[in-house]
Amino acid sequence: MPISVAIVGSGPAGFYTADALSSSGDAVSIDFIERLPTPYGLIRGGVAPDHQTTKNVQKKYEKTALKEQVRFFGNVEVGRDVSLAELRSMYDAVVLAVGAPRDRALGIPGEDKKGVFGSADYVGWYNGHPDFRDLNPNLNVAAAVVIGVGNVAIDVARLLSRSADELAETDLPEYAERAILDSPVKDIWTCGRRGPIDAKFTNVELREMGKLSESVPLVKAEQLPDSVGELPERDKRLKERNLETLREFCARKLDEKPKRVHFEFYAAPVEILGGDRVEGVRFERTRVEGGRATGTGEFFDIPCGLVIAAIGYRSDRIEGVPFDDKQGIVPNNDGRVEDGLYAVGWIKRGPTGVISSNRPDGVTVAEHIHNDFAGGAKGSKPGRKALEKLLAERKARIVSFADWKKLEAAESEAGGGKRPRRKFTTVRDMLDYLDRNRN
Ligand SMILES: Cc1cc2nc3c(=O)[nH]c(=O)nc-3n(C[C@H](O)[C@H](O)[C@H](O)COP(=O)(O)OP(=O)(O)OC[C@H]3O[C@@H](n4cnc5c(N)ncnc54)[C@H](O)[C@@H]3O)c2cc1C
Repeated sequence: MPISVAIVGSGPAGFYTADALSSSGDAVSIDFIERLPTPYGLIRGGVAPDHQTTKNVQKKYEKTALKEQVRFFGNVEVGRDVSLAELRSMYDAVVLAVGAPRDRALGIPGEDKKGVFGSADYVGWYNGHPDFRDLNPNLNVAAAVVIGVGNVAIDVARLLSRSADELAETDLPEYAERAILDSPVKDIWTCGRRGPIDAKFTNVELREMGKLSESVPLVKAEQLPDSVGELPERDKRLKERNLETLREFCARKLDEKPKRVHFEFYAAPVEILGGDRVEGVRFERTRVEGGRATGTGEFFDIPCGLVIAAIGYRSDRIEGVPFDDKQGIVPNNDGRVEDGLYAVGWIKRGPTGVISSNRPDGVTVAEHIHNDFAGGAKGSKPGRKALEKLLAERKARIVSFADWKKLEAAESEAGGGKRPRRKFTTVRDMLDYLDRNRN
């Protein structure tokens, strides 16, 4: 009997696991259980709509999905349509690959004011994720503050400052494209509590900010150190490149382009200002000592009508599994959680790293499964058949991979050539489309 494996979540971590398992030579039967009708997790719902080449990785994932041993159960949510305990009773191995979909809180007064969003929600909105398509952020503002100096903060700032021509080649949903183009925003502040050397953005993303047609990046020369200081060789090269790019930005002119992205370092947000709605952010100037930012007692305000906090993510607690609240992950030993239960990707490691950082997790867990089931020789639970029976009893509406391919084709056609796609942004629309196109 093949080893039956259920992978909960079809983002990068789930796909790398399926790829490693299905390439191992072991007799395995692999089922993806995915809460959305669409696969690929943050590749679809997180990676920026103007970074289509990054999204191309899904073509590789598709090859895995189409393997004979692999099945996709889309629109099936663990915790709603089937419990984790049920899955564990049906499958030899269950792999948690559910990611980290929640925003970390800023933890400062005023963060619940209207106009303040976490990047998970805001990025989900501009990516047409069904959970967030109705977020409706008011972009009718002159200035926006993005809190955070990582790649997600840069994505958010960049998307707000793109021109109509630039946006026309993205897969932004129509509502988001319209909101961005109608926005009078002129100043976007990207703020970090520590200095430029501590900023997490990668150099390609940073340099891109200097090449936008309608927006100029601005950096205060006095915030740049003379050198990156003592660092391991690899980090040093990366940081030196960033420093060089930031130095180039210092020479840019305030009125060069209609919009400005200001990089503001040594700025710790302490309060969101305003009444019901945000009117600004109060910051405390910091200094960095021994890698830690400490307040200097000097405060300043940046007026704005929109705040997006891009300060990191956390996972949801999963019923029936231990959860480390502090780290926001399922505690595990190199991917092993309990007998027959494994974790990969952001739910395993926390929300760090790039897409390919999830690959080793998948490879490791595939090895664990091989070793835990008699060298890949022995499965004992029914897996797929039992799940299909249970979901049929519950009248769950399963979206298969073939269904997804129909949705994908429709989205691509709706893109009209120049755009890669116009996405379905509600589950209802996806299911209705599939109902209308049954054959
Ligand atoms: C805004 C943003 C932009 C990024 N841009 C880049 C980039 O440009 N380049 C890069 O290399 N990396 C980028 N990353 C990082 C990359 O996206 C992550 O490393 C990767 O997606 C993590 O993979 P994962 O499989 O752990 O989680 P996810 O990609 O989040 O996948 C989790 C999947 O689990 C599903 N799921 C959740 N709960 C359940 C449930 N109960 N039942 C069933 N299914 C469930 C979700 O719907 C989702 O499909 C970005 C991350 C973010 C947040």
